[in-house]
Amino acid sequence: MRITKKTILYVVIAELFFFILLPAVLLGINGIFHKLPSPEIPQILGNKIDTPEYINVYRHAYGVTEVIPFEDYVKGVVAGEMPSNFEPEALKAQAVAARTYSLSKIMRSGEGGNPPAHPDAPLCDDTHCQVYRSVYDLTSLKGEVWMNEDWQKICNAVDSTKGQLMYYDGKLAEQALFHSSSGGHTENSEDVFASAVPYLRSVESPYEEEATHQKEVKYFSAKDFVYLLNLKYPNRKLSSSVQSINVISKSAGGRVEDIKINESTYKGREVRDALGLSSANFETAFDGSTITITSNGFGHGVGMSQYGANGMAERGSNYKEILEHYYTGVKIY
Ligand SMILES: [Zn+2]
Repeated sequence: MRITKKTILYVVIAELFFFILLPAVLLGINGIFHKLPSPEIPQILGNKIDTPEYINVYRHAYGVTEVIPFEDYVKGVVAGEMPSNFEPEALKAQAVAARTYSLSKIMRSGEGGNPPAHPDAPLCDDTHCQVYRSVYDLTSLKGEVWMNEDWQKICNAVDSTKGQLMYYDGKLAEQALFHSSSGGHTENSEDVFASAVPYLRSVESPYEEEATHQKEVKYFSAKDFVYLLNLKYPNRKLSSSVQSINVISKSAGGRVEDIKINESTYKGREVRDALGLSSANFETAFDGSTITITSNGFGHGVGMSQYGANGMAERGSNYKEILEHYYTGVKIY
């Protein structure tokens, strides 16, 4: 057959018909007569929140707001908030908790809710929000060997959980709080802070054997003890001679809730603040002249215990199991 312009035209028309027009018509008819329900999308996927590419972070040391790639920021927070010799699964749990906490701050920022301390940024780089260390800071602070080994370990932990967040009841678990160690039990949020948060419940934290600040003993002369409490809480006017110290009530996690000193009642966390104790999980002994206080754990005790997380990881728990243990009822995706 001779290939003429006419032949080419027929071939093009035939191809158009079979490969484009016919399928379009058939699909259209199918769409009209078989109106299938849209595929079942699990609730959890529907609510997954995309993390931003960048975040504004206020750098206290430099007095400037920096724009940092979000996942790099998470890496710098894990480096700032958790010892790098912790297990990879504990570092991953920390990455998800820090990412979730950061995102909650970013979401509030959109509603004009940046903290007054840094109105241009939802987060800063120190304990006011959460500690962040840049690659530059870490290189000069820790040296090249650390950067080649520990920093790589942190980067791997963050990369392998990229974009993953914690959710409770289909919503972001905004208060992904964490602390160094609990002393054996974490706390219900309302026993330490103002409000009851459903995923911040008191749970056992049994594997904190490597934690710092265990059975930490501090001694105070009766004079210093009264001075420090009156300095912080002058309205209570504690009399200069200590007659009695009695713990009246303890929280579910074992922290002192109310403590009576002579005739004045204090909250356990007030005594912790006034005396600079590592935890409100403490016991007192008074021999007439010296007050001995033994505290357990370090930090507020709410949410994930970092040493407890590492202890779980050492026993084979993965990061999701760790997070699900410390944040009651959360899902990670
Ligand atoms: Zn801050």
